[in-house]
Amino acid sequence: METEQATPAQQPTVTPAELEIRDLHARIDDKEILRGVNLTVRQGETHALMGPNGSGKSTLANVIMGHPRYEVTQGEIYFNGINLLELSPDKRARLGIFLAFQYPSSVPGVSVGNFLRRALEAKREGYDPHAPEVPSGEAPKRKGMSPAEFRKLLNEKMKLLKVDNTFINRYINEGFSGGEKKRAEILQMAMLEPRMAVLDETDSGLDIDALRIVAEGVNALRGPNLGALLITHYQRLLNYIHPDIVHVMFKGRIIRTGGPELALELEQKGYEWLTGESEEDAGEDGATPTV
Ligand code: ADP
Ligand code: MG
Repeated sequence: METEQATPAQQPTVTPAELEIRDLHARIDDKEILRGVNLTVRQGETHALMGPNGSGKSTLANVIMGHPRYEVTQGEIYFNGINLLELSPDKRARLGIFLAFQYPSSVPGVSVGNFLRRALEAKREGYDPHAPEVPSGEAPKRKGMSPAEFRKLLNEKMKLLKVDNTFINRYINEGFSGGEKKRAEILQMAMLEPRMAVLDETDSGLDIDALRIVAEGVNALRGPNLGALLITHYQRLLNYIHPDIVHVMFKGRIIRTGGPELALELEQKGYEWLTGESEEDAGEDGATPTV
């Protein structure tokens, strides 16, 4: 049986992990989309990021995870004091950052169970920026996990999230309904136990069932160890998840930060109240809001 020896670096720290974004500018092709974002999310807090279509919310999520299409031209992103911008997406994930995609893709031939197992093994490798680099060509050290151990954790999480047993034998996202895709994603999040989760909700597609699945999942996982950034165009998700802090993004900047009451005010008055523009002018997507 394998045992894990906790080194001082692996022991829990007293201060919660913190995602800190400073004066972030990013562009895609030649178009500047983020134009000076400042945002701090601590472990244990749930923040909502709202804003009209095209204001840069999904871009921010992608830049946090290190999507290669976006170029950061200015500013910084730190996680627990570690400069994320120097790290590949997989290293960011191994630090405990999780991104739920707005449009998850299907992986034919890979079952939900197998996918979760691989993801968990990779996560368990962890990432220590002070450790010497593994020489290229050498396999990274794997932290073993027995099938029994994996099963136990999976059963625990499936129970917590009320996921049907047959679900894990299906190929990931293949023929999944919108609600099932969300369920797979939330189950993945529960298994990985991220310290910081960024959830990007579809601006239109989520039906009420899928919305409830996301909300119930996030609420079940909420606690001192989870920091969450919920990205949503509509107030309705926030009827199910009550955020501690609400931010409004517009044209690549956060233009207002407040408590949960800010979301309610937006629902009543619309984004125009803050932006001074009708929604159709705000972004190039031109979607009509139906709050
Ligand atoms: P939101 O999520 O707030 O609706 P996005 O971050 O998706 O906003 O988009 C912000 C702006 O960046 C929009 O004007 C959008 O058209 C543009 N944009 C986003 N992704 C791409 C891309 N892959 N190629 C070109 N433009 C993009
Ligand atoms: Mg978006």
